[in-house]
Amino acid sequence: MITIKHDGCIFCVGCSSVCPVNAIEARGTRMKHYPDKCIDCGLCVKICPANVIQLYKGVKRLEDLPAEAKISKRA
Ligand code: SF4
Ligand code: SF4
Repeated sequence: MITIKHDGCIFCVGCSSVCPVNAIEARGTRMKHYPDKCIDCGLCVKICPANVIQLYKGVKRLEDLPAEAKISKRA
């Protein structure tokens, strides 16, 4: 799964366009991620111009993220 640091996101929706499995979509004024769909391909990380996406390979649930990811309130 990925995390998105929302306060740095410029809402270009590039991540959503490149995701091969529709695991990210624009919802209101934020990008929303669906970890159950994510295949950890990293394409969104590469395309993000604001560098606010972090990939956690093999992680499927928010509660399994490393502590630093939770502290920075990425989701
Ligand atoms: S890592 Fe790949 S599958 Fe997961 S959200 Fe990003 S583009 Fe989609
Ligand atoms: S690619 Fe990055 S800046 Fe653009 S919408 Fe996605 S998270 Fe936000």
